[in-house]
Amino acid sequence: MARRTKIVGPVGSYGPRYGVSVRKRVRDILERKKAPHACPFCGRTGTVYRVAVGIWACKKCGNVWAGAAYTPRSGIAPYFKKYIIKQ
Ligand SMILES: [Zn+2]
Repeated sequence: MARRTKIVGPVGSYGPRYGVSVRKRVRDILERKKAPHACPFCGRTGTVYRVAVGIWACKKCGNVWAGAAYTPRSGIAPYFKKYIIKQ
């Protein structure tokens, strides 16, 4: 079962393996992945979930879109919208 610890949280299930700095990095990524995100279509928060790597969906409106691997929007997405799509 998923064992949580005080320091590395959900990554406690890895036990003492891989080193603490690596486990802390994984913890930060998993926390961003599991945090409540706002849906870019209906604006509701907490209804967005990851279907697979880079594929995100909203429980409420049913939209499915391509995002980043661990977040529904990548850091480069706003620049892409501003400079590439508008040309
Ligand atoms: Zn939605």
